[in-house]
Amino acid sequence: MKKEPTRVEKAVEVATRAHEGQFRKTGEPYIVHPLAVKKILEEWGMDEDTVIAGVLHDTVEDTNLTLDDIRKDFGESVAFLVDGVTKLSTARTGMRDIDTYLPETKDNFLRLLIALGDDIRVLIIKLADRLHNLRTLSALPPDKQRKIAKESLEIFAPLADRLNMGLLRVEMADLAFKYVDPRRYEELKNLIEKSNKSAAKSLKKIEQEVSEALKKEKINFEISGRVKSVYSLHKKLAKHNQNINEIYDLTALRVIVDDVTSCYLALGIIHSLYTPMGGRIKDYIAMPKQNGYQSLHTTVITKDKHVVEFQIRTREMHEYAERGLAASFYYNEQKLTENYKKGKIEHLPTNLLWITELQMTAAKLREGKKVDLKKLKLNLFADKIFVYTPKGDIIDLPNGALPLDFAYRLHTEIGDHVVGVKINGKMSNMNKKLEQGDIVEILTSKNQTPKSSWLGRIITPHARQKLTRALRIKDDNAKAKPAPRPIPPIKKR
Ligand code: MN
Repeated sequence: MKKEPTRVEKAVEVATRAHEGQFRKTGEPYIVHPLAVKKILEEWGMDEDTVIAGVLHDTVEDTNLTLDDIRKDFGESVAFLVDGVTKLSTARTGMRDIDTYLPETKDNFLRLLIALGDDIRVLIIKLADRLHNLRTLSALPPDKQRKIAKESLEIFAPLADRLNMGLLRVEMADLAFKYVDPRRYEELKNLIEKSNKSAAKSLKKIEQEVSEALKKEKINFEISGRVKSVYSLHKKLAKHNQNINEIYDLTALRVIVDDVTSCYLALGIIHSLYTPMGGRIKDYIAMPKQNGYQSLHTTVITKDKHVVEFQIRTREMHEYAERGLAASFYYNEQKLTENYKKGKIEHLPTNLLWITELQMTAAKLREGKKVDLKKLKLNLFADKIFVYTPKGDIIDLPNGALPLDFAYRLHTEIGDHVVGVKINGKMSNMNKKLEQGDIVEILTSKNQTPKSSWLGRIITPHARQKLTRALRIKDDNAKAKPAPRPIPPIKKR
């Protein structure tokens, strides 16, 4: 008896039929492309609806298939995702076999935002789509190559980075950079190869020494070399006046261990073997990067004067560093998907809450309000933290914000009457910088009044403005009544 085809198999059948007779610039049947996108999404561990939407992502725009057909056969969720991806693309130039006509970067970015407002999985499908197009970019005419490559470098690779999808970022950036600046690409690629070759022998020795020491301490580990990507070297060199001697992470070893304690143990062991370089020890475990990346980094100098960077992390951190948002999906698939369906976003991993910002912007755009895209792009990649009220409302603040900034953000009345703050359930002081994901509770008292000393405990212009106003009113009130003794002047900024 023949088995019922799965939903994914059915989608492949439908897409194959729909794209029948269409070809890519490479000369292959068009269906090769949606199938490649499917494979990428499966490798990323995405849920079934996303994989199906990946198979069907070009059908509505390029074939006779309609959204209604898709809704009928595959359900609302898949139709929703395909619609999002379709909105991301643009009107083609009438040539069905070109998958690659792209509008101006800005325009595309705007569409990206609008679609993002609906479901972040749309972006993940788009990233998979873009990755395959980059892998097959050689089939296109040079002007299109450059355009797509540039856009990938400026928008898509940074987005992949923001989502902590490290493998994707590296592959995209290097594929694209090759087209944007082929000479530089070759030059740096050779440089990396040469440096790896010359470091290979001493690296082997270091690997051995570290392995022995870790074994002696009974730490379970895996150690491997990490190759620096061409594009990240290019960017780093630009930052260091092209001085290759200032690039310390050209050769790096990655140590993966079982748990956080072992990470710190391994760091200690490595430091007992080699001299660490000052200022180059980074604890991204205690203080994760904005995108959620966690790892210990240290640069050491070996006995024979080799400079090597070590990256130490757990298996889980490694997984997340390479696959990022996709990994979160994999682990929280059910929970996340359910929440998306309900239109909730607060169960996103804390470090990805910047997406709320995008979604708010998207809502603005949908209402037809004007948004300064240039500013937006900066905002999007600037450092920001997201903290919670005890009720779970999300408040975004600039990095380094203090409890009073938070209080004034909630409400002027709250700000004016602050007597204390609890951070993550514990009493804390007003000078404590808020951190990503903190739960912040402001304690107030009717009798409290704003103090001029508070001006030194805020960093946001919003809070400064509110506080200055409150201080002025207080000052005026005090002057109106005959004061028993002179009131000290208020410090003006
Ligand atoms: Mn496509």
